[in-house]
Amino acid sequence: MKFATEFRDSALAKKLLDGIRRKSTRPANIMEFCGGHTVAIFRYGLRDLLPPHLKLLSGPGCPVCVTSTADLDKVMALARIPGVTITTFGDLIKVPASYGSLDRARAAGADVRTVYSTLDALDIARNNPGKKVVFVGIGFETTAPTVAAAILQADAEKLQNFSVISLHKVTPPVTRALLDAGEVKIQGIICPGHVSAIIGADAWYFIPGRYGIACAVSGFEPLDILHCVDMIIDQIESGAPRVQTAYSRAVRAEGNPQALAMLDRVFEVAPADWRGVGSIPESGLAIREEFAAHDAEKVFEIKLEREPREPAGCLCGEVIRAVKTPEDCKLFRKACTPENPVGPCMVSSEGSCAAYYHFAEAI
Ligand code: SF4
Repeated sequence: MKFATEFRDSALAKKLLDGIRRKSTRPANIMEFCGGHTVAIFRYGLRDLLPPHLKLLSGPGCPVCVTSTADLDKVMALARIPGVTITTFGDLIKVPASYGSLDRARAAGADVRTVYSTLDALDIARNNPGKKVVFVGIGFETTAPTVAAAILQADAEKLQNFSVISLHKVTPPVTRALLDAGEVKIQGIICPGHVSAIIGADAWYFIPGRYGIACAVSGFEPLDILHCVDMIIDQIESGAPRVQTAYSRAVRAEGNPQALAMLDRVFEVAPADWRGVGSIPESGLAIREEFAAHDAEKVFEIKLEREPREPAGCLCGEVIRAVKTPEDCKLFRKACTPENPVGPCMVSSEGSCAAYYHFAEAI
């Protein structure tokens, strides 16, 4: 399969690994920002293949995982409003909010539908004019343009029964927040591939520029990741950190101007609440006033019936910051499993706890 098997070639992987082992002389923590990278690293057993002094740490790059409990409670409150249909991607359905999940709300009678794209959500709105259809916008710069496109389409069609609750987040500010906090010493960062396809590799210049940390953008196949680690090791060993791209088939320095223009047309940056990190200025995307008719937070009065509460014993906040691993959590594999998740990191297909759970033998 072109663009897949050619990036899984074992002979090339061995060559890259031999080079990394030969060149790397000092301990280093290398954080992969993206949950997609975490899953790929576990799936292909890459942690085991690297020299023991190189540690791969999972970062905050799972959008569902970093959505705060208070924001999930808002979605639950929307689901309780009579006449509202919640549309969302599948990952979110089982994520526990303070007092239940969308899954349970649906079992109790709420109209909650899984969609595969925002186009599906628009179709549901068109076909159900008596319903108020809310799409739950969770994701980074990668998915936000598709949501922007849906809002523009709804606006053009005057589809008044379609709105979005925008819980979108942008990624450079949280990277800065983690590096500023300095809880974990990081010598290299594997920058997210799909996000960088939108915002461009240049968006990461602050990592070497302000923090003196090595970084490179990676794709999601094993050779992409090993190539990226190889670049990072070269930077660390030479003492010359910079931004490199090991995913040039998808990522340009300037990103995707059309997608960025669409984001800017519909959204404006706003503070956002990140699980485990708290509120970070300019790390969220709020819907511009011009599109208020499609902003669920303006269309509906969202009332939280009770104070948000975090799942007891869950360490997702620490796992997201790479301060703890899923195995540090007493609930891991016991009270918390993919069938009965306690926290979001066990639900999401990109969550660290789910990756540890499914690929335990690769640890
Ligand atoms: Fe939270 Fe479960 Fe992960 Fe523990 S194992 S941190 S309870 S999601």
